[in-house]
Amino acid sequence: MIRVTVWNEYFHEKTHANVKEIYPEGMHKVIADFLAADDVVVKTATLDDPNCGITEEVLNETDVLIWWGHAKHGAVPDEVAEMVQNAVIKGMGIIFLHSGHHSKPFRRLMGTPANLCWREDGDLERVWVIKPSHPIAKGLPRYFELEHEETYGEPFDIPEPDELLFISWFSGGEVFRSGCCYRRGNGKIFYFQPGHETFPIYYNEHVQTVIKNAVRWANPDYRVDKLSAPHVKKIGTSDSYIIG
Ligand code: ZN
Repeated sequence: MIRVTVWNEYFHEKTHANVKEIYPEGMHKVIADFLAADDVVVKTATLDDPNCGITEEVLNETDVLIWWGHAKHGAVPDEVAEMVQNAVIKGMGIIFLHSGHHSKPFRRLMGTPANLCWREDGDLERVWVIKPSHPIAKGLPRYFELEHEETYGEPFDIPEPDELLFISWFSGGEVFRSGCCYRRGNGKIFYFQPGHETFPIYYNEHVQTVIKNAVRWANPDYRVDKLSAPHVKKIGTSDSYIIG
């Protein structure tokens, strides 16, 4: 069983009629619904929950955390961002969607401001799959298109991705690294750009395929309970530190 928590700041859906129309119960509900499977259990959490819905207990019971935020990044306490960062280093997988590039946990894990160029023109986006052999690209065509999406453009101020899976082209002319994989400590991180709140992006079958695949990829293969820097005895003595 893969235990997924979908975290959403859940703000635009309650304050903007056009967004509410697309996601009446919040985009976390739509994402949770398409992710649910025989081997995937999904919970949701939002900024409205106590402690933003993120506690040590929640993180300990989460294999893969999905993060969507935009207008309320600043409302997430630094302590929560640090908890998420440490959970990833211990081994939890995490998927940052769209404007999650500016979230506190993403910036902490990248170590950069993660700025980018953007424009809301309703451009067409063509997502090119440049690493079709990667498990996150399984089942995707050579490229897929989103009829309207917020334009994100380079330069995107991130560290060089360990693996770059997608490059998007927008009809206004920009290109953008829209699917980036990282490892931090024991944890796997995937950044996926599509998902502006005013367009029905998370209903798109290819977008859903990417997120479903990313959950399986980011599911921890190794995880520790706590971060430590053990002082060790010389090998061969009775109480040598043994990994595992
Ligand atoms: Zn957006």
